Amino acid sequence: MKIPVDDIPQSPKEIKFSESIGELNEAYAKGSAGDFRFPPFLDVDLVYYRSGRQIFFQGLLGGSLEGRCSRCLKDFTFTLRKNFDFVLSPDRDKSDRKIAELSREDLGLSTYSTDEINLAPLIREQVVLGLPTRPLCAESCRGLCGGCGVNLNCEACLCSAAGDDPRLEIFRTLKVGR
Ligand SMILES: [Zn+2]
Ligand SMILES: [Zn+2]
Repeated sequence: MKIPVDDIPQSPKEIKFSESIGELNEAYAKGSAGDFRFPPFLDVDLVYYRSGRQIFFQGLLGGSLEGRCSRCLKDFTFTLRKNFDFVLSPDRDKSDRKIAELSREDLGLSTYSTDEINLAPLIREQVVLGLPTRPLCAESCRGLCGGCGVNLNCEACLCSAAGDDPRLEIFRTLKVGR
């Protein structure tokens, strides 16, 4: 979604739109954290307005994502819903643009320097901020057995039966630690 700066009113304006976030799949595929798969679009409810030269955005994004459980390594679907708000200030000093862009990345400050605000990268940033740090298929996920590797959500294994014997506690601790 792109919004012309001149069209941004002083009284809050509300819009709903779908934002393309498919690019996140490529970004994540490159990194080591290939633990999420993103749909091509997410729904965004957005309110925006200007105050002086600053532009304020508040909204809610939502959609269905896929994650890979960090305990049992199974893929699962989850709903991401995230409230967000951010403010854009004009990037006044064009001669310092390079520095401004560097510090924007470093400090999380956001500026605009064009006649039109492209929301796509800002929304994608909010999606990333809304991701769980450790994806879990369920809070209660029991993960994989550190001994034999079976998915403990689906089946019991002999290791855990043996683990009930307190005399074997020391071995279990050694095996499971990761
Ligand atoms: Zn799991
Ligand atoms: Zn086992």
